[in-house]
Amino acid sequence: MKSFLLTICALIMLTANVHAEVPFADKFIPWSEHRDELGDEYTLKHYGKAIREIVPQAVVVHWTAMGTAESVWKYFSAEEMTDDEGRLNVASQFIVDRDGTIYRLMPETNLARHAIGYNHCAIGIENVGGYDGNEDLTDAQLAANVRLIKYLHAKYPTIKYVFGHYQQDAARASGLYIELVPDYYAVKTDPGKIFMRGLREQLESDGLTFYDE
Ligand SMILES: [Zn+2]
Repeated sequence: MKSFLLTICALIMLTANVHAEVPFADKFIPWSEHRDELGDEYTLKHYGKAIREIVPQAVVVHWTAMGTAESVWKYFSAEEMTDDEGRLNVASQFIVDRDGTIYRLMPETNLARHAIGYNHCAIGIENVGGYDGNEDLTDAQLAANVRLIKYLHAKYPTIKYVFGHYQQDAARASGLYIELVPDYYAVKTDPGKIFMRGLREQLESDGLTFYDE
């Protein structure tokens, strides 16, 4: 009886560990062949070849600057957008809500359009907040980003860099930046220096490269 109870305890602990390893819930956006084709069009134009599947080498951290997790999810769900530089709608692989709940929107290695020059190799994390450009992301979001990036780094040892979207220029030192369309660029401030400082403090010792503010 005693060993039976110990086995049950071990199983419960094992189950708890397995759950601790996956810090997100899946809430996939609709994904059709048409979205893949729009992705082909975008990646051919900007990276020189059609790319649907990425080998993650960087994590780019964002804020949404608007909306709720639900409204951002709906926004990303649309396949097309109107833009001179492509019809593929923007999206990121993850959304982190203000209470720290993490949603995975697609398989992590699906190419998503979230950071000019880096979509071919970067996983995007959107944090709900940054309203009016204020650095208002929460402690729960910071903790959730740390958990998520640790998870991703363990799963994809090819990930070497973590940077905020506003650090897109400094991150060119990684050698990862590719953009074939001249002057295709947007100034960014997300997700703020305070948030990136917090991530760096907790993740740099894991062997990930960060950039100065
Ligand atoms: Zn961004």
